[in-house]
Amino acid sequence: MRRALPVVAGLLLLLVAVPAAAQTECGLSIEFHRDFGYAAGSEIQGAFSLTADGPENLVQVDYYLDDQLLGSATEPPFKISFSTGDHALGLHTFIAVGTTQEGGEIRSASRTVEFVSAEQGWQVAGKIGLPILGLVLIISLLGTVGPMLLGRKAKFRLGEYGAAGGAVCSRCGMPFSRHLMAPHMVFGKLERCPHCGKLSIVAAASASALRQAEARWEADSHQGELKPEGEGDRLREQIDESRYES
Ligand SMILES: [Zn+2]
Repeated sequence: MRRALPVVAGLLLLLVAVPAAAQTECGLSIEFHRDFGYAAGSEIQGAFSLTADGPENLVQVDYYLDDQLLGSATEPPFKISFSTGDHALGLHTFIAVGTTQEGGEIRSASRTVEFVSAEQGWQVAGKIGLPILGLVLIISLLGTVGPMLLGRKAKFRLGEYGAAGGAVCSRCGMPFSRHLMAPHMVFGKLERCPHCGKLSIVAAASASALRQAEARWEADSHQGELKPEGEGDRLREQIDESRYES
């Protein structure tokens, strides 16, 4: 225990010392701000400005781009503006040199960034942005179409087909009305059969095909089979079944 004490004390000292060392109280740091354009990682394109943070007695900051004076500022936040379009594409190194009231000089650490073309900038932005845009479109489409296909199951009335005409289900052979607003595919409308729930692309059926299907539906409904089944019926059945189990 006695031997551990100096180690603990050392660790504590380190914890206190590290933040103090990280502070740049007497140094000069520069910051990039995007005014208009593109910035990702160290790649930038467009209109940018630079600001500097230094000691209290800082009176001027000169910014250098590849050792050429880019601009100077004489009051906080020591802001200058530049456009990447005024310079060659590729890697560039920025450095700031500050002057203190007493005439001292402080240099910032150098910062290297890559000027990219507008096309390259938007291409990268597009790679990130377009899939998100696509996803948003799909979600909003599902939000419109989904309830339309799922929500109207129970609204079947024999012989009523509306403006979009009637259709005959390819699985159960029952007639149903096509939704005027259902998404239009090449060969017909995307619809969900209200009887069996099959989702398919259906064309408007001929009058005779509908009559046949209606006759089939009437015959079946008299037998009590294949009746349009709502969520409520299914739930009731489940409750009935569970009653027998307990
Ligand atoms: Zn069906």
